[in-house]
Amino acid sequence: MTALLQLSGVSKTFRVGAAGRQTDLRAVRDVSLDVHPGETLAVVGESGCGKTTLGRVMLRLTPPSAGTLRFDGVDITNIDAKARRELARDMQIVFQDPYSALNPRMKVADIIAEPLVNLGMSRAQVRERVARVMETVRLPIAFADRYPHAFSGGQRQRIGIARALAVEPRLIVCDEAVSALDVSVQAQILTLLKQIRADTGVALVFISHNLGVVRFLAHRVAVMYLGSVVEVADSEALFTAPRHPYTAALLDAIPEPDLSMRGKRRVIEGDIPSPLDPPPGCAFHRRCPLAGDICRKEPPPLEAKAAGHEAACHFAETELP
Ligand code: SF4
Repeated sequence: MTALLQLSGVSKTFRVGAAGRQTDLRAVRDVSLDVHPGETLAVVGESGCGKTTLGRVMLRLTPPSAGTLRFDGVDITNIDAKARRELARDMQIVFQDPYSALNPRMKVADIIAEPLVNLGMSRAQVRERVARVMETVRLPIAFADRYPHAFSGGQRQRIGIARALAVEPRLIVCDEAVSALDVSVQAQILTLLKQIRADTGVALVFISHNLGVVRFLAHRVAVMYLGSVVEVADSEALFTAPRHPYTAALLDAIPEPDLSMRGKRRVIEGDIPSPLDPPPGCAFHRRCPLAGDICRKEPPPLEAKAAGHEAACHFAETELP
């Protein structure tokens, strides 16, 4: 299948620090990923792993420092502001925090309508489209004249999703879109996103620090560590037979009610290293129970370990402890 969005060797580096003592922070390192039409690709990793920066690069909200991006076969690596605005018709974002993402001084209808007005649609078209997407996200049309403060977190996130859907995009990046919500509300929003994807065929990139929440939604999962993708696979394969020790530890960190598993979980020791001073060799070696001499010297390439299953680990064939 032809990729809708194609990233090849994408990196993003920031200059950080005080004037005269600046240094490079490599937030995203050499990421190659495809997003196919109508699929949900989850991007998962601990806080600071670069997944949000990767999402912003995907949307071209920030330019990559290296590599190329193609959307529907068209190179979008170096586009001007006008082309970026046109790209917003095809690619949208749903933010993490439904409390700060919505302008408190705008009514719901105006929040949803804003991107449509920017596209130059007529008032009648805008009204019709706003009503349609409010119905899609299960918000009563009577809410259209209210302000965001009148709503719960889950309802606000539905408004954010409606705004993203209004322009009928082909891809939506959901950046930690359920992280700020209660568990029961998370389930409602995940179910809604799954239904929207099925009904509209929109592709989703679902960014989350929580591997547990993506299984319900994702066709494929990419796991990031210190700016790099260390494993990518179909959801079922990744959850049942992870090839990377980091993925295995993330899976074990998912809470589950089976008390017999207590004490049998693989726990990641130590903190995630600073991206300003990444370890040599495999970036995960200081926390990895399988690390050997080669891991301290040579970075493992991301390579196929099975059909549709890639991992960056020198010992990915070794049975995980
Ligand atoms: Fe662990 Fe070595 Fe694999 Fe890195 S390459 S994940 S340190 S076994």
